[in-house]
Amino acid sequence: MNAELKSRSEVLLAYDREHLWHPYTSMTNPLPVYLVDSAQGVRIKLQDGRELVDGMASWWSVIHGYNHPELTRALQQQAESLAHVMFGGLTHSPAVELARILVDITPAGLEKVFLCDSGSVAVEVAMKMALQFQYARGREGKNRFLTIRSGYHGDTFHAMSVCDPVTGMHQIYQGVLPEYFFAEKPKCSFYAAWDQADIRSFEELIEANHTNICAVILEPIVQGAGGMRFYHPEYLREVRRLCDLYDVLLIADEIATGFGRSGELFACNHADISPDILCLGKALTGGTMSLAAVLSTGSVAETISSREPGVFMHGPTFMGNPLACRVAVKSVSLLLDSDWKERIRRIEAGLKRGLEPCRDLPKVEDVRVLGAIGVVEMKRPVDMARIQERFVSRGVWVRPFGKLVYVMPPYCISCDDLDFLTSVICEVVSSEGGC
Ligand SMILES: *Cc1c(COP(=O)(O)O)cnc(C)c1O
Repeated sequence: MNAELKSRSEVLLAYDREHLWHPYTSMTNPLPVYLVDSAQGVRIKLQDGRELVDGMASWWSVIHGYNHPELTRALQQQAESLAHVMFGGLTHSPAVELARILVDITPAGLEKVFLCDSGSVAVEVAMKMALQFQYARGREGKNRFLTIRSGYHGDTFHAMSVCDPVTGMHQIYQGVLPEYFFAEKPKCSFYAAWDQADIRSFEELIEANHTNICAVILEPIVQGAGGMRFYHPEYLREVRRLCDLYDVLLIADEIATGFGRSGELFACNHADISPDILCLGKALTGGTMSLAAVLSTGSVAETISSREPGVFMHGPTFMGNPLACRVAVKSVSLLLDSDWKERIRRIEAGLKRGLEPCRDLPKVEDVRVLGAIGVVEMKRPVDMARIQERFVSRGVWVRPFGKLVYVMPPYCISCDDLDFLTSVICEVVSSEGGC
């Protein structure tokens, strides 16, 4: 790197350190950040010339790899005709086309689409829909939520209220954050034999409190940022059965799992169930723009509309943004036109093979893989600054949190890059001594 570029990079990094918040970081003692120049396919190029094989898909979203020419072209073409227009009283083909695709490919019964800006907002919208649904039926008392521990649903207030109370640090917001019902986290893993005792905590809570519960919200099969856990499909089937039995809606948060990540197009497909309300986000635009969608059944939508005020009370400024919708249509089409299932199966096999050596390391608690998600759970939290630097110096981008070293690479990753990624993880994790 030449001297001028180097000093320019240093200026940017210094200003960043002084003035920019990053996700979940300290403003006085921030972890190092790396200056990105560009990204292509599965490679992130740093300003200093280093190239990193990406294991994160920028938090589940960049499923087709970075700078995909067809996504870029879709954005450019859309920008030339209509970058944005208000959605109140107006509509456009990108939104209609996207809704049509989502209704077609999501689990049966979901037919009404609300487009919004981000995953957390989608969760807010879904929760408001559940409340307004019960209100419209005259069941105002059904105004609380039931969820499971170890979940993650986003960072806005109501989304936070159904995140795991311990890792979500609910004590900071005591008295402000609503308090909801938390069932024990499922213990039966995806691959274990089903044990009916696993649903007991959930069953007891819904049985005792259903007259006050409007909806259950959970991440189907894969609990993401709350612990990277994969639970048994029978658990989800039991949840669906109990929701029906006790007249409670089921909200499936597939913001992380949607669009193939778990090996099925949607994680609900592992259990062959349909939720009443479904949240999508993250991979929806292939990681190019922020966009989320909430789908509901006709019955939820019609009930909400049947009692005054007769409308669903939500409408963001950038609702249905044409740029985001157009690139989402392209991203979902690219996925559906690809042999995604075979690719995910191949990544799953590569992750299982490549991460298996970690299992025998003394500091490793567990190794687990589902679809294109690989997790090495350590016995103790990792030293973030140090482990991050070691990954970068070995040429991969992996960003652990707490005890979890995990990857969810773009689906276009080659076998060689995947082997490289897993071998670096094994190497870094095995020498993660000391702490
Ligand atoms: C990331 C995530 C969210 C929040 O989405 P944002 O776009 O970050 O607001 C909600 N639920 C799940 C399951 C997620 O993984």
